[in-house]
Amino acid sequence: MEYAKLTETYIALEATSSRLEMASHLAELFRTMPPELLQRVVYLLQGKVAPDYEGLEVGLAEKLILRALAFTTGLALPSLEEQARERGDLGEVAQWALKRKKQRALFNESLTVKRVFTNLARMARLSGTGTQDTRQSLLAQLLHDAEPTDGKFIIRTVTGKLRLGVGDATIIEGLAEAFVEREAKGKLEHAYNRHPDLGGLAETVARDNIEGVEAIGMEPGVPLRSMLAERLPSLEAIMEKLGRAAFDYKYDGLRIQAHVIPKASPPVLLFSRRLEDITGQFPDVCETLAQAFQNTAAIVEGEAVPVDPESGNLLPFQVISRRRGRKYDLDQAQAEVPVRLYLFDCLYLEGEDLTSMPFETRRAALESSFQPTDSILCSDLMVADTAEAAEQLFDRALEFGCEGLIAKALGEDSLYRAGARGWQWIKFKADYTKSALSDTLDLVVVGGFAGRGRRAGGYGALLMAAYNDETQRYETVCKLGSGFDDNDLAEIPGRVDPHRAADQPASVVSDMQPDVWFEPVVVLEVLAAEVTRSPIHTCGRKLEGEPGYALRFPRFANRYREDKGAEQATTTGEVIELYGQQVLQEGNGNPSPSAST
Ligand code: ATP
Repeated sequence: MEYAKLTETYIALEATSSRLEMASHLAELFRTMPPELLQRVVYLLQGKVAPDYEGLEVGLAEKLILRALAFTTGLALPSLEEQARERGDLGEVAQWALKRKKQRALFNESLTVKRVFTNLARMARLSGTGTQDTRQSLLAQLLHDAEPTDGKFIIRTVTGKLRLGVGDATIIEGLAEAFVEREAKGKLEHAYNRHPDLGGLAETVARDNIEGVEAIGMEPGVPLRSMLAERLPSLEAIMEKLGRAAFDYKYDGLRIQAHVIPKASPPVLLFSRRLEDITGQFPDVCETLAQAFQNTAAIVEGEAVPVDPESGNLLPFQVISRRRGRKYDLDQAQAEVPVRLYLFDCLYLEGEDLTSMPFETRRAALESSFQPTDSILCSDLMVADTAEAAEQLFDRALEFGCEGLIAKALGEDSLYRAGARGWQWIKFKADYTKSALSDTLDLVVVGGFAGRGRRAGGYGALLMAAYNDETQRYETVCKLGSGFDDNDLAEIPGRVDPHRAADQPASVVSDMQPDVWFEPVVVLEVLAAEVTRSPIHTCGRKLEGEPGYALRFPRFANRYREDKGAEQATTTGEVIELYGQQVLQEGNGNPSPSAST
């Protein structure tokens, strides 16, 4: 199949914001190709060459891309650099340059999807010094045979900025429409949550229909999507919802899913909440797990919490982020910030899938599976019948340095629901007792406002959005200018500027016009006094002219959520739910429609 065919679909996808229409365009494309090619096309649609957990990223640097373009087109490097500065989108620079190509090729090889994919995958596999020239030449080979529009999309893919506005859920809908019925979408989602390889899923459904999909199971070495918690504003409300329940300490750390695979190399793999392979960042945790589990094969989940090496007390989560992404001085980092792993669930043990077992069974399996030490323990848990008993545990949890509690349902229905935020787990945090709003929110930066006075030259405020998981778009919920200290103000441009967009991204719904737009990538944790209705923001707005939902007095909660992708940010549905809870809790009818920032 020619790459140009894929380009046509990209253009059609860019032209619509309707999820149904997107799924239909995809289904039309999917039906035209053999299963093994479909797998590659699905990865390309995700802007990838492999599932996230394989950690293969193409991510080419701007310099290398411009050099490849200069080589292919015969245009001077400085003029390409100038275009890059002006346009801010290297994809457009490629399109511009390929239209002005100076030399015509003597012969062309056809640019097939297979060829593009193979070169991109090779680029992703090459790492280390001395590979830059090979990567540049692999890219130049493709650009040599690319039409200007093909070039635009190839470059957007290699810079990780394809951003078609097509989420994984829409690709799944397209697959269902193409190969089974739309109603079977739930089965595809279920398989994906337990084995999150969308390319693999596509190949399976195209080859073996729904029977093949039903046979997809968990696999040690492949992370499951995490089960998530709902929230309620009081322990009484939680008791009312769950009745007798287990209450677990909510540790403030980094969620880790550990796969212990004895005799494999390496025998322990660690995955983050967003399914990245983070094994290399925590060699000490791997060692601890290998020793504690000995020859027991298991998939367990827990929270890695930094501890004070002197006192052994828990430290705030931020301390752990000092260790993330540091490749070279790990020894020092381990000594400075040792981490303790509190395990709270067991999804697989000795060949047995436990996800469809009740929580009590999984917990018993967890407790029997390893030898606890100072560095690896089971989470503190108590079964409670009354809110008073849970309250006592809550106090103890805070004293111990935890954020609060997570209540977990017991009984038949309490299975592990991969990828779902449901009422089986309900969180209750200390923040809830301090403000009217019952949680912090993890919001996506979509715009920036130029700073004035002391903030001149940087950003004075950021435009923040929640994720609408129905429409797969980002809807604005506040302008965030408080809670930043001088370090944050210095650090933020470095985090957000690589994601600058020339115009308002198609996936962002906003009435506000910031000075700079950003592709929705960076997630920050935000505190607020309350949720109000606001004519300025688009969050949760169903109809044009209707007020949206917005945060009052938003403040940066001093946490960069690097463990979350934009699609894992707080959803617009959760913001609306928080609004509803606040009305109930305060008994104040309608919170005032006061001006929101
Ligand atoms: P938050 O921002 O409040 O940490 P989140 O959005 O990351 O929440 P939630 O589903 O809201 O995720 O809360 C569950 C998170 O709490 C888990 O992802 C995990 O990182 C953390 N956690 C800490 N202790 C526990 C525990 N005992 N059981 C389950 N999750 C726990």
